[in-house]
This record gives sequence, C-alpha cells and structure tokens, in this order.
Amino acid sequence: MKAAQATFTNHPDMEDLMPTRLHINGEWTTASGGAFETFDPATGQVIEEIGRATAADVDAAVAAAREALGRPDWAGLLPIQRAALLFRLAALIEDNAEELAALETRDQGQPIGISRHVSVAGSAEHFRYYAGWVTKIQGTVNPVSFPETLHYTKREPVGVNALITPWNFPLMILAWKLAPALATGNTAVIKPSEVTSLTSVRLVELAVEAGFPPGVVNLVTGDGSVGAMLSAHPDVDHLSYTGSTATGRLITRASADSNLKRLTLELGGKAPSVIARDANLSAAIAGNLAGSTLNSGQVCAAYTRFYVDAAREDEFVSRMAEGLRGLAIGPGAQESTQLGPLVSARHLDHVEALVSTGSEQGATLVTGGHRLDGEGFFFEPTLFSGVTDSMSIIREEIFGPVLAVTTYDDLDELDDLLVRANDTEYGLAATVWTQDISTSQRLANGIRAGAVFVNMPPIPDMAAPWGGYKASGWGREMGPWAIDAYTEIKSVWMHYGA
Ligand code: NAD
Repeated sequence: MKAAQATFTNHPDMEDLMPTRLHINGEWTTASGGAFETFDPATGQVIEEIGRATAADVDAAVAAAREALGRPDWAGLLPIQRAALLFRLAALIEDNAEELAALETRDQGQPIGISRHVSVAGSAEHFRYYAGWVTKIQGTVNPVSFPETLHYTKREPVGVNALITPWNFPLMILAWKLAPALATGNTAVIKPSEVTSLTSVRLVELAVEAGFPPGVVNLVTGDGSVGAMLSAHPDVDHLSYTGSTATGRLITRASADSNLKRLTLELGGKAPSVIARDANLSAAIAGNLAGSTLNSGQVCAAYTRFYVDAAREDEFVSRMAEGLRGLAIGPGAQESTQLGPLVSARHLDHVEALVSTGSEQGATLVTGGHRLDGEGFFFEPTLFSGVTDSMSIIREEIFGPVLAVTTYDDLDELDDLLVRANDTEYGLAATVWTQDISTSQRLANGIRAGAVFVNMPPIPDMAAPWGGYKASGWGREMGPWAIDAYTEIKSVWMHYGA
C-alpha cells in the first residue's frame, strides 16, 4: 500500500479496500464526504471505493489552484522547464502503459486493445504534443494607428481551470484538457466521472511523480454534485467539460449565475452517416462498423443514424447486420474481444429502454436488441431498419451499439437529404460514403457539424480541432484551438513619444 499516494488497491480479492483519496495542494487527503463504490462493467463486481469530496474539499482544491497560479515554483518556470514537466509526464504514461490500459479496461470496460492504442497511447501523445507547444506560444505586434505607440499582445493563463470529464474515455479526455491547461501555465482542479475515476487518480499520481509543483494539479472525486460545486464556484476562471448536453446546460446556468466563468463544452452527438449510391460498400461496411461500435458505441462521434441510398439499402443492411453478428463480445480484458460491456447497469437500462422504444415505434429490428444473460453489462449490437425521421432511436443519443437505418430516394435531392441530416439539435460529427467528389463536397459543406469524415471512421487527432456545432458544444479542443481555450489575450499599449 502506498500510503503517501492515493491508496490505490485494485485488488481482485478486495482485501485492503480503502477509498481513493483526493489530491489537494500536493497532499493526498481523505475525502470528507465518505466514499462510494465503482464497478467492473464486465462482471458487475465492486473493484474500488472512491472518495466523495464535499464543498469544503472543493473550496480547498480551488484555493490551492489559485495560490499555485502565482507561485514562483510554477509561474516562475521558464517555458523549457514547463515543457520538460509535460514531456516527463508523457514518458511516465508510456512507462506505465500496460498498467494504465488494464486499469482503464477494468473500470470502463473497453477492449484492452482500445485502452492500449487509443486511450493510453493517445494520452501520452497529447502531453507530448502540448509539451512542444509550450515554447511556441506567441503574441503579436500590431500596426495600431496611433503615433509613437507600440502595441503588442501576449497570452496569459486563464487561471484556475475545472476539468470535468465523462466516463467513456476517462483517461484520454482528461489528457485532452489537462495537457493544454498545463502547457499554458494554468492550474487545474480535476473532477472525473464518478463511474470511471480510477485512471484519473493514477494520472494525478504520475503528474506528482513528474514533478508538477503542489497545487498545480488537484483532484476531487465524487458525483455530479461535486461538478456542480465547481460550476458554481466564484473562483474558477474556466471550466472545460465533456459530457451530456443536459449537464452542459446546467453548467452554463451555474456559470451565468456565479462569475460567468469561461466555458468549453464538448457535449452530445448523433452523427449521421450518408451512404451514397456509388459508395464503395466494402469500405463503408468496415468503416461504419468501426464507427458505430467502437467502445460499444459509447463515443460522442459514433455513427448512429444511417441515410442509405434506397438502391443500396438491402445490401447495406444485410452486410452491416452480418458484421455486427460477427463481433466478438466479451470482457475487455480478453484480447480477442471486439465489443466490451456498457459502462454501468444504469446505462444498460438506458440503452435497453431506447431499443424497446424503437420496436414500439415501428422500426424493424434486424439484429440484436437484447442484453446478454449472465454477469456484466453487455448488450447485443443492434440494427434497426425502416426507421423514420421522428422515431426516438434516430433523434436521441443512445450511446450504445444501436444503429438506425433510413433511406433517401433521389441522388439529385441532396438538399432534402441535408435538411434531414441536419434535423437534430446536435452537430458534433458526420460521415459521407461516396466516390464522387462533388457529392462529398456538397455534403461536407452542407452538414452542420464540427467534423465531417469522408470515407473514414471518426477519429480524433491532436492536430485537428475537436468540438461541436449547435447543442454539441462550445469551443474546440486540440491543436492551437486548445491554446485559445486556456489563455487570455492581453493587449498592451505603450506610448513612447515625448
Ligand atoms: P454526464 O453529463 O452524466 O457526466 C459527465 C460529467 O459531468 C461527470 O463527471 C459528472 O459527474 C459531471 N456532472 C454531472 N452533473 C453535473 C452538474 N450538474 N454540474 C457539473 N458536472 C456534473 O455525461 P456522461 O454520461 O458521463 O458522458 C456521456 C456524454 O458525454 C454523452 O452525451 C456524450 O456524447 C458526451 N461526450 C461528448 C464528447 C465530445 O467530445 N463532445 C466526448 C465524450 C462524451
């Protein structure tokens, strides 16, 4: 047992189970509000207890982050020194990659290959990418029309950042936020999802090992009420949140009612996939299977509503159904698993309820449709055809391996298709499958979404912006866009005349 750290037991036999601790001002402290259990979604068994932060803990974490912001051991670091800390954290993630991957799979359920190659590798790369940015964040000198006046801009850290993450890719989404926050000289209070807190606890341990000074990286665990405390906190300058649109609305209200803290919101999605008459169907089947079932469909950019040229419908539906039936379902820890469990019993109920609605509203269930008997939170990959635009399964975010197929009739009526594809409150991602450059351009230009993928599954990359139109969010993560999110631009005017 590492008493100085988060008391991270992770023992299958549950011996020595002690709640994970909070990390405040460089200390691992026992949460004031007791603890709650977290489960292995592949078995339904309790694997750890997580400390429950109270308002006093949140206040202490925010105060520590505020104090660290101006302290010489952080604010006084040279850019190369700050960069070195981020490079070191990237290396530590890689040194501990297998342990982190196993932990993510155990807590979140994702297949171990996804944990290794997406969650853990992606997190390390993110820290390395933003380590590179530290020495390249520039201001400008501007040609203002005043005599004998030097005008320049500089970027300053926005301040204390609350980072609230969801349960689908806990480690990777935390890296998306923490890496640019630290690269730009900010301090952070992390609040992971109560469903999947473990890799966030471990990442903070590694940040301590990397040498970030006390108070720079703080961690408070707990449920949505802890997130709400951060949203309403008058001393948080910026809150970066990834999660549901419903919670995004609550956070926006809390920000408005407190200090109008800046918000970056990465919210829900319901990505359309258009399969044109001329699509390469083999590529479309492979890409849409990957795009709809990665992490059991628990992906905000997952392809979920399919607009298929009526002439290709039968072929598309039968080949997709065959592909879905062929997926190896099992615990994420099993190397051969392609489709792991859903994250929680509650989420399994949510997916099951929406699937029932699909059948009740008259869609045709082609394959799947049921939870699996036995332990764990498994749901069959499911495909509906004959879906109409008003059905719940094509309108609501399901966040599971559930696909809804509808058709369109006339290639010349792309404008009508665009109206249907855009008939959603969401606008995170979309995909188009065609070999015709004009069709791909018209659809890529016409679909209102933050990312349009042509003939490929939805993938994030730290060099490309990630974020949504409409109710899918505000702002962009990744690339230079995240530097914008975590900095203020100061305008400095210097009159040097007599
Ligand atoms: P959620 O909204 O239930 O929870 C997300 C986080 O918000 C958790 O840490 C939770 O504790 C916290 N929270 C809950 N209530 C809160 C409140 N009132 N104030 C502040 N924080 C609060 O979301 P989830 O179910 O964990 O995640 C799934 C959702 O996340 C889906 O809608 C999905 O589309 C979205 N998502 C979006 C992206 C993206 O990049 N746009 C990426 C991944 C997931």
